[in-house]
Amino acid sequence: WKKIDIENRSKDELYEMEVTFNEMIDSLKENYEKQEIFVSNASHELKTPIQIIKSYAQLLSRRGEGNPELLQESTEAIDSEADRMQNLVEQMLALAKNQQEQVVETVDMKELLQQVADTFQKAYAPREIILFTDEKTKYMWQGNPDQIKQVIYILLTNALKYSEKEVNIRLQQKSDEMIVSVQDFGEGLAEQDQQHIFERFYRVDRARNRETGGTGLGLAIAKVIVETYQGEITVQSKLGEGSIFHIHLPNMDQ
Ligand code: ADP
Repeated sequence: WKKIDIENRSKDELYEMEVTFNEMIDSLKENYEKQEIFVSNASHELKTPIQIIKSYAQLLSRRGEGNPELLQESTEAIDSEADRMQNLVEQMLALAKNQQEQVVETVDMKELLQQVADTFQKAYAPREIILFTDEKTKYMWQGNPDQIKQVIYILLTNALKYSEKEVNIRLQQKSDEMIVSVQDFGEGLAEQDQQHIFERFYRVDRARNRETGGTGLGLAIAKVIVETYQGEITVQSKLGEGSIFHIHLPNMDQ
């Protein structure tokens, strides 16, 4: 810390320092408030599965003996709530980790997307996951392949979860950016929800999403990752018709 010689500063300089100082405090306060909201959301989300697991464990100890139906129901519920917690913890760690180091490699995006599409195709057959690219174009991108894979995984998992038909992936190379789009023909999103889905823990229908095992963290993670590449993630959607998520990745050498 350098000691500031206040006496020899002009009024204008002092005023400028005060403005900068206030801006710093505001930004620290804002970060702190965001952290506080995150911690309170996270603990709330973790408390729910813990509560469910505890209730079933108590039920089992009171009435489990000689009651195979209750045993079956309880173990299934405990298992699925434990999965949910595991998911949550992994995703929260992913958010924290992403604020760390950056790996930069040259990635053949077409090849990467084809691999991801094939993996998902196998897991979700007979549903189709189709990749559209231009035969002649080279789709080279600079960045961390694991991070971009994670974003595509999140979008594909959602597209498959919130729709029942095929899912399309489209890759486009523009003069200043590369765009990866994931399109589904499922339930879609109302306009008022589209603005919020990238917020941490936001879910359109909490009751329904509890069944589909959502955490509300996937798109928030995707957004953080895309933004580390100065990119943007956007959605176009219509209720009952489906959604398209676009990942815009600016060309780094621009
Ligand atoms: P979740 O783990 O709940 O899927 P996300 O952050 O990935 O969390 O998504 C937030 C919410 O946005 C979801 O709960 C869901 O309501 C909505 N959503 C995300 N993707 C889609 C989609 N492809 N179609 C319809 N709704 C979607």
